[in-house]
Amino acid sequence: MRLILMGPPGAGKGTQAKGVADHFGIPAISTGDIFRANVSQGTPLGIEAKRYMDAGEYVPDEVTNLMVRNRIDEDDAKPGFLLDGYPRTLAQVTELDGMIAFTGHALDAVVVLTVNSEELVQRLLQRAKTEGRADDTEEVIRRRQEVYAEQTEPLIDVYRGRGLLIEVDGLGEIDEVSGRIFAALDAVKQS
Ligand code: ADP
Repeated sequence: MRLILMGPPGAGKGTQAKGVADHFGIPAISTGDIFRANVSQGTPLGIEAKRYMDAGEYVPDEVTNLMVRNRIDEDDAKPGFLLDGYPRTLAQVTELDGMIAFTGHALDAVVVLTVNSEELVQRLLQRAKTEGRADDTEEVIRRRQEVYAEQTEPLIDVYRGRGLLIEVDGLGEIDEVSGRIFAALDAVKQS
């Protein structure tokens, strides 16, 4: 399976990604997690990415694309992968198309978690209290939502046009949402 998990900041992508990936026996690849790991280790990639992340902006495509390309090349991703937080721009979509075509495979599905924006801000502010992520202040959260609407929402139509889009209601208990994702993807797998 080659899957993309999309959704606005706070939709629960990170929470769902691991469970979905385990269910299909593939690695969950989260660009946000990879960036954060680099930031905490103080690598050159982390130092560069931090400037953008702290402001709620996207890290430049060239940087992100190269990082994903290297990760997808690793052995554990040969049978498939679930991408969490990538692609986020139209340029990243094109780049990913090339990476997947190169392996001789195709994308199986793009899952979008839908949640209304007030609920999203509340969740993120709550997460700010428990996890203390540097980019979870109210101002930065609002900026991340704007950037998502401007740069990432258009991807939904692109994948819908390709017949790959699956919209899943992201409201409810974690298990309830996982159940909806599994049901939708099991149907794809069998088709
Ligand atoms: P969120 O909880 O907002 O979905 P993530 O944990 O996925 O956030 O990502 C955190 C930050 O990492 C983003 O705000 C952005 O700065 C950077 N980032 C993650 N993925 C990408 C990407 N595909 N392209 C550019 N920047 C990215």
